[in-house]
Amino acid sequence: MAEKGSISIHSENIFPIIKKFLYSDNEIFLRELVSNAVDATQKIKHLSAMNQYTGELGELKVVVKIDKEAKTITISDKGLGMTADEIKKYINQIAFSGATDFVEKFKDSNPDRNQIIGNFGLGFYSAYMVADRVEIITKSYQDAPAAHWECDGSTEYSIDTADKAERGTDIILHISEEGEEFLEEARIQGILDKYGKFLPIEIEFNEKVVNNPSPLWVKSPSDLKDEDYINFYKELYPMAEEPLFWIHLNVDYPFNLTGVLYFPKIKNDFDVQKNKIHLYSRQVFITDEVKDVVPEFLTLLHGVIDSPDIPLNVSRSFLQADGNVRKINSHITKKVADKLNSLFKEDRKAYEEKWDDIHVFVKYGMITDEKFYDRVNKNCLLKNTEGVYTTLEEYKDKIKGNQTDKEENVVALYTNDSAAQHTYIQSAINKGYDVLDLNHVIDSHFIGQVEQKSEKFQLKRVDSDNADKIIDKDEKIESVLSEEETTQVKEGFEKVINDTTRAVTVESLSPDEFPVSVLQPEFMRRMQEMSMANGMGGMMPSQYNVVVNANHPIIQKVLKSEDQGEKDALIKQSYDLALLSQGLLEGEDLTKFIQRSIELV
Ligand code: ADP
Ligand code: MG
Repeated sequence: MAEKGSISIHSENIFPIIKKFLYSDNEIFLRELVSNAVDATQKIKHLSAMNQYTGELGELKVVVKIDKEAKTITISDKGLGMTADEIKKYINQIAFSGATDFVEKFKDSNPDRNQIIGNFGLGFYSAYMVADRVEIITKSYQDAPAAHWECDGSTEYSIDTADKAERGTDIILHISEEGEEFLEEARIQGILDKYGKFLPIEIEFNEKVVNNPSPLWVKSPSDLKDEDYINFYKELYPMAEEPLFWIHLNVDYPFNLTGVLYFPKIKNDFDVQKNKIHLYSRQVFITDEVKDVVPEFLTLLHGVIDSPDIPLNVSRSFLQADGNVRKINSHITKKVADKLNSLFKEDRKAYEEKWDDIHVFVKYGMITDEKFYDRVNKNCLLKNTEGVYTTLEEYKDKIKGNQTDKEENVVALYTNDSAAQHTYIQSAINKGYDVLDLNHVIDSHFIGQVEQKSEKFQLKRVDSDNADKIIDKDEKIESVLSEEETTQVKEGFEKVINDTTRAVTVESLSPDEFPVSVLQPEFMRRMQEMSMANGMGGMMPSQYNVVVNANHPIIQKVLKSEDQGEKDALIKQSYDLALLSQGLLEGEDLTKFIQRSIELV
């Protein structure tokens, strides 16, 4: 005779509530039930290894079956099974008490679904998101009759003996109308692929094993070849280009962490590549949102992290404050830095060849994580316009002879657009200066960070001043103009330019420098870039100054000209040339400039 019982909880019927909260994520029922089956199988293996179970283990696999006609999904395992008493204890009491807490706590709110399941031991009950009746037929490894439990989602359950001879458990879900999509094979296959690809016990569906029970990261690094890592990468990301290198994580103290992290080729848009690390807990896929588990900049990496110590089912803020998560976080950061260090030491040339692919990632890390900055500072490379790579320290040494200003600052010059700033780069090179190529969007932030972390070291964009002045060495060049002539020139330019926002100065530069330049000082440009980055683009207009070279022959010509028309034309033409070299000449001014130039020719 079946024994009847009723579960004493405060709420009349918890299932409608569970369903309401859990519904949109209902596919996780399969993850939960298959995980339970895997757990039960692991447990019997363990008991056997400890000699607490001496019977045959048999073929230990988990089988998932769909019966479309009967509208059931059955998950079967050959795990340790349960006695009737254990069902009462583990399924009825524990889960229901969890469910009661849950109802109490979340009556009025809408919590994160994932959180409920683990937190309240509702794993098994997630079955009711897709089923309106669930049966458990189970035979324990212990000497006890097989049991049959059944519950239709009300608080009533029945439990009886069953005639199952083999050890293990069948969970039979009678799929509800709302759950009908799960009777489709493709749907089930999809869920198994997503969550169960690397479960540690074979999972069979449609007579095929759907998982790889011993994925690369659980193996010992000494047994693996490069090829294995590359093949595993392809298994994870069939569409991606080959990775540059990888790190095999293998920690068991003070926390448990395994995994493989790959460095992908990052060319541009580093945002698109995020969310490629998959987080597992004992080989069960949990999420690819690893934001809180790995430092932000490392989300650019690809691969797998597996840790039973990461509390997966708690809230965000808790996760961030969790001691283990923080330790894991800094461990991964350290490993990544170590890897860069060893690559750099072992084969500098190969490292340089990879640099263009990894610099974004390294710089991103250096900007956002001070510890990481200090760890990789020695192998962060700078590339100059000739394609020569040096470390930061090497570079300072290289340029300090010729590029130290009067305040003892070593001044590095850089271009962020070698085509547009070609003229300026040439003038700098002609002065014997070196010019760095820092042309990625991340570089403007990187430059700020490097300056902040270095003493007596500055970076200036090559077009921020005349080559004579850009590194101020306090070398005075005599002006050929008298004071009166200087004023005359200044006023002449001011009149023609006729724009009060453009301050005109007359400086005595070498006669080889441009007659006129339109410059945006480094400081002003950075302020403007910052306000752009903060979304206040319009707040800070560009500020350009006009510098007239007192010693240039054209200026002599301007002074000597008797004809006011010719004077103004000379000024206009040389000013327009300066605008042109900065890409600032446009519209009507450009058209007129071209006309004038044609006439001159
Ligand atoms: P959790 O897995 O977090 O303990 P569940 O609600 O998923 O919570 O399961 C409750 C308990 O029921 C498990 O701890 C286990 O003791 C038992 N159980 C569930 N499924 C099985 C199974 N397939 N074989 C044996 N025991 C099981
Ligand atoms: Mg479970």
